[in-house]
Amino acid sequence: MYVKQLELSHFKSFGSTTAIPLLSGFTVVSGPNGSGKSNLLDALLFALGLAGSRGMRAERLPDLVNHSQIKRGHAIAETRVTVTFELSPQELEELAAAEAAEAEEAERHTDTTATPPKPDTESTLAPNEWQVTRKLRVTKQGTYTSSYAINGESCTLTQLHEQLNRRRIYPEGYNVVLQGDVTSIISMNSRQRREIIDELAGVAKFDRRINQAKDKLDAVKEQEERSRIVEQELND
Ligand code: ATP
Ligand code: MG
Repeated sequence: MYVKQLELSHFKSFGSTTAIPLLSGFTVVSGPNGSGKSNLLDALLFALGLAGSRGMRAERLPDLVNHSQIKRGHAIAETRVTVTFELSPQELEELAAAEAAEAEEAERHTDTTATPPKPDTESTLAPNEWQVTRKLRVTKQGTYTSSYAINGESCTLTQLHEQLNRRRIYPEGYNVVLQGDVTSIISMNSRQRREIIDELAGVAKFDRRINQAKDKLDAVKEQEERSRIVEQELND
């Protein structure tokens, strides 16, 4: 699977809507310093919701909206990035198999029949294409809302991450190698390097899930304790 096209609308230095086709093989983007090459990677991280952990270069999300768009004084300034992937027939088959297996597994565990995904009638995508879009809307006051969509249908970040996971793209992974990443891997200590190997081997994912489950358990225990106190007071 590869990124076929990146489309940016009012994103950072891209003032209008620009489509960047990445032809099969090897695509190089060249240009002088500060011309917006790294902004393309920021756009990729932004759209796929990978930004949190992989250091996108922006203090706050609203900084991602093209400045002229904000200066124009509309009530709402908006930026949008769409990433189009192309999958090989083999990958499509693997995905379908994984989805079927997962649906079966879910059924076995919950006894409820999973609702089939809604057919996407408006989409003009080819069956071997897969598209992720993120929009960010910033008001004059500086508050903002962000939304994601897969193949034109809105979804949550969790749903997007699930789908990306199936395609072996991970928020903490190294699918996107940023400027300076190689240098930092060479100069880091062995423990940090080990963390990267755990990440690549897929072990770190389970560590994270264990921690998430522990946090949840702690929260439930706290709630239980609180309820017990209230119960005791009512009984007294
Ligand atoms: P280098 O070769 O030095 O790595 P680069 O081509 O990777 O440079 P980027 O870092 O991608 O360059 O682009 C930086 C440019 O983007 C700067 O000129 C900056 O002014 C511009 N820029 C960043 N955010 C915005 C924004 N919100 N609106 C307009 N321009 C922006
Ligand atoms: Mg750069």
